[in-house]
Formats: sequence, structure tokens, C-alpha cells
Amino acid sequence: MTPPDARPRHLRPLVAGAALTILALTAIAAWVAVASQPGGDSHSLQMSARVMGHDRPAAPEPATSPARTPLPQPLAGKVVAVDPGHNGGNASHPAEINRSVNIGNGRKACDTAGAETADGYTESAYNLDVGLRLRRLLNEMGAKVVMTRTTDTGVGPCINKRAQIGNRSHAEAAISIHADGGPTSGRGFHVIYPAVIPGLTDDIATASKQLALAVRAAYQQGTHMPRANYVGHNGLDRRGDLGGLNLSDVPKVFIETGNMNNPSDAAHLERASFRQRAAKGIASGIERYLTG
Ligand code: ZN
Repeated sequence: MTPPDARPRHLRPLVAGAALTILALTAIAAWVAVASQPGGDSHSLQMSARVMGHDRPAAPEPATSPARTPLPQPLAGKVVAVDPGHNGGNASHPAEINRSVNIGNGRKACDTAGAETADGYTESAYNLDVGLRLRRLLNEMGAKVVMTRTTDTGVGPCINKRAQIGNRSHAEAAISIHADGGPTSGRGFHVIYPAVIPGLTDDIATASKQLALAVRAAYQQGTHMPRANYVGHNGLDRRGDLGGLNLSDVPKVFIETGNMNNPSDAAHLERASFRQRAAKGIASGIERYLTG
């Protein structure tokens, strides 16, 4: 039952008229609010028009969206070997890791456990993370990437096997990714290239040095990590005692991307955003080397 209207009869139409006016004003205010929102695009306007009873059919969407412009692939057809140093299982398998292997001009342990930050972030996990980021970036540039490992739960492979993987893939460039376990006070990165050893590295030494120069420049530019102040010279070091370089038949370098024992370097290495920049720097160094 509706309660009887208590107002005087002559006021009733006036009140009804005012109510209608308020209703109309409210609707207009709502429409203006929707249309003036930051996201108040044509869709919102269309929705409001529909609410207000002024609906019009939207223009039909094209059946297919326009073809995407393919990304440039400067490394199409190139093969790159990426070697994340060490492995997560190395430390708990000393017998396998310590057995000596031939490195061309002597013998050395199959592999080592690697460095670690004071927080316990292992070099092997770091190397793999940067390596996988690097693979993705190189793939996007069109390169085929051969990895020496893709998990951090195994043992090895030994350093001679790591070199072999690059050789068998006929890579145009190979890189070993590391982070150093240097003195606590030492900062920065360095790139290691092979010394000229007749019958071993004489065929790859010049090209490897070119690769080292390109990676040094691009890595520094991409990460702003300083050149090492505790080893080598100007962010470069030449060595004849690394099996991974001695046994390589393809241009190859090692990069020590920072010093895990230095608190300042370690803070960088522990950040995923830094590791992405590191991978990008290395990728663009490889690109510069391969595309001249
Ligand atoms: Zn290492």
C-alpha cells in the first residue's frame, strides 16, 4: 500500500517537475564525469551514449590487424657459444671437479666451485642467469646460441669439454661468463683474452682480442661497471693458463663481470636489473664484433 500524499494538491506537480530536473542534471553530470576521465576515450563516450539512449553501431573492426614490422636480426645465421662458468653441483663433488684435464700446455682441475658474495649468492647461479638472459637477447638478434649448461644443479662440464662445445658448434664467437672472487677492496670488471700459444691459440688470438675490445666497450657502456682496479690493465687481461681459452678453435673470451668479494660490486651483481644490463652489454659487444 502506498502512503497517502500529505502535501497540498497545488504543490504536487511542482515537486514532480523539480525531481525530473534533478534526475536529468544527475544524468548529464555522470556523462560529463565519464567523458572527462583520463581514460575517457571514445569507448567511454560510446558507453555513455548507449546509457543515454543515443547508441550507434561502432565501425566494424578490420578482420586482421596490420602485420607487425619484424625486428631487425643483425645476427641471423650466426652461431654464438655461451659458457656460464662453474656449476651448482661442483662444490659437493670434489672428486669429479678436482681431477686434472689436459689444457694443451699443461694440466688443470676439471672445474672449480666458483666465487660467492658475502650474502651467499653463488657465482654459478649468477653466471647461469646472465647466460640465459644473453641467450634470449642473441636469439632475438637472430643468432643460434649453443650453451655449455642450462641448469645450475649439475657438475661441470670440465673446462676442456666447455671449449669443445664451442668448437663443435663452429661458433663465430664464444664467451665464458664469470664473476670474480678477487680482493675485497678490488672493484670492477675485466675481459680475458688468450695469449698467443703456437699450435694452440695462434689461430684465434687476434680475433679473440678484437672480441675482447668490443665486449669491454659495450659492457662498460651498458652497465657503468668500472674497469677492474686490482687485476689486468684497463679492464683487459691476457692469459695462457685457462683451458677454456687454450683449447678453443673459435674466437673466445672470458668476462669477469664484477668482483663478488667487493660489497659494492656484489650489490650490483645481486640485482636482476643489473644482470639484464650486463647481458645486454655483452650481447651488443658480440654484435659489434660479429657485424664489424
Ligand atoms: Zn668463475
